[in-house]
Amino acid sequence: MKTLFVITLFVLLFPVYSFPEDNPTLCIMDSNEYSSEQNPNYLLPWWNNVRIGKFAVLYVDFPDGRYINGNDTLQPFYDYQLEWVNTHGEPDAAGEMGLINEVTNISVGSKFMKASKYTWNDRWNMFFDSVGTYYGNAHPDCASHQDTAWGSMKQYWKEASNNKFELIPYLTHPNESDYKLRTGIINEYVMINDVPVIKCLKLPFKKYGSNDSNSYLRSFSSVESLDIVANRMIADATNLINNSTDFNLTQFYADGGTLFIYYAGSHSALKDIGYRSPKVSIVRGRENQITDENSRIDGFGVAAHQYGHIEFGWSHTNSGRCDIMNGGDVHDNNSPQLPNPIYRMQQGWLEPIALDITQEIELSPIETSYQCGVITIYGKPSAASDWSTGECFVVENRRRLGFDRKIIIKEILENPLYTNFKGGLLIWHYSPYYDLPEPYCCGVDTKIKFRHNDRQHFSCKTEGIQKLFLHGIKDYPQFQLIFIILIL
Ligand SMILES: [Zn+2]
Repeated sequence: MKTLFVITLFVLLFPVYSFPEDNPTLCIMDSNEYSSEQNPNYLLPWWNNVRIGKFAVLYVDFPDGRYINGNDTLQPFYDYQLEWVNTHGEPDAAGEMGLINEVTNISVGSKFMKASKYTWNDRWNMFFDSVGTYYGNAHPDCASHQDTAWGSMKQYWKEASNNKFELIPYLTHPNESDYKLRTGIINEYVMINDVPVIKCLKLPFKKYGSNDSNSYLRSFSSVESLDIVANRMIADATNLINNSTDFNLTQFYADGGTLFIYYAGSHSALKDIGYRSPKVSIVRGRENQITDENSRIDGFGVAAHQYGHIEFGWSHTNSGRCDIMNGGDVHDNNSPQLPNPIYRMQQGWLEPIALDITQEIELSPIETSYQCGVITIYGKPSAASDWSTGECFVVENRRRLGFDRKIIIKEILENPLYTNFKGGLLIWHYSPYYDLPEPYCCGVDTKIKFRHNDRQHFSCKTEGIQKLFLHGIKDYPQFQLIFIILIL
C-alpha cells in the first residue's frame, strides 16, 4: 500500500508531541565534554565495520539502606531484614528490593515491599539479552506494574545501527562458567531462594542526611548541586571497585569501556549524569521513591540516552519523541525511540538517498530499510562518507516498528485523529556551516533542527500534550515540489 504525500505547507504529517511520561527530569552533562570531537568517524578504523561498545554495570547502595545486627551491616536480602531497614533506616537506600502484589509485612499503597525482588538475570537480561529472553512478561515489574519488555539495550543499539554497533558485556568474573555470571556486572552475587541476587557495594555515606559530611543527598526531592553529588558518588564507587573487588577498572577504561553505576532507590532530580573521560555515568535505580506504589525500575531508556552522550558524543536535540537524544527525557522506558537520522548517518548506520528538486521517490520505513532522503540546500553533503559536508534537509519515514513502536503514545492514539496512526514523514535540517537557532536547552546541538514551527514544542519542560504542525520549510519554497512516497 502506498500513500502519497507532498512536501508543501500546512500538510499534517506526523503528530509530534512533547509529552513527558513521567517526571521530566533533565539529564545533566557538561556540554564542554562534547566540544573536543576528534577526527570524523569515517576516518576511524571501525567505519563500515562492526563497532564494539564494551559495557559494565555496578550496583551500589547506602549505609542507611542496610540491616544492622551487632557487627553485621548487611544488604537486606530477606524480608525481615528489609522490615528492620524500613523501621530504623531508609528503604529508598536499599538495594535490589522492590514492590510486588503479594502480601508482605510492609504495605505501600496497594502493593508491598519485597527484599531481593530483582535477580541477577533480570539485571543482566535488560542490558545484554540477544536471544529474545528479555521480552513481554520477562520485565521484572510486569506483574506488579504492567511494565513490558521489548528487548534489551544491546538489541536497541543493534537495531539503531543496522547491526553495525555491538554492545558487549565486559568480562567481569573470569572464574564463572555461566556467561551471564561471567560478564557485564561487576558486583558479586548471593544465592537467595536458589537464584543469584546482586550484592551491592556499599557507598561510605548515607543516601539522605543533614549535610555533606554524613550523606550525599538531603532528601528525595532535594535540589543540591547534583553534579557535585554525582562526582562524589562516582569517586566513592570507583574507590570501592579498586579496593574491594578484583575488577581492573583502569584496564577497563583503557580498553574503551563504559561504566554505568546504578544507585539504590530513586531521586526526583538526580536521574543520570555522565562523563566522557573516563566514560562513566551515575544513574538512579528507580522511578519514584519506594514509598510510592508507582515506584519501579526505569528500564533502559535513560541508559540508552546517556549512552548516546557518552559513547557517541551526541548532544541533545529539541525533537521530542522523535529522537532518543531529546533533552527532556521523553521516551518509553522499555522501548525508547531510535536516534535522529543525522546522528545515525554520522555513524555510518544509514543508507542515504540523494534527492533532487522535482524528484519523486519512495521512502521505505527507516526502521527496516535504513534509508533516508537527503535534500541538498548548500554544498555537497555526500562528499564525505557520513554525509556531513553540506547543508541539507534529511527526510525519513518513521513508523511504529521495532523500538519505534512507542514513538507515539497511548494518550495520542486515544485522539480520534490518530487512532490508526502508523507513522509518517519527519524532516530534519542540518548545517555544518552555521547554527540553526533554537531556544537553548540543556546542551542542545545547534547544527540540527527539527523542522516544526511550534515553538512550544522546543521547550524541553513542557507538560501535557503540545500540538504542533506546519512543518517548517516554508522558508525554502524551491523544495516544495519534491514528492515523497511513503511505503507503509
Ligand atoms: Zn542527556
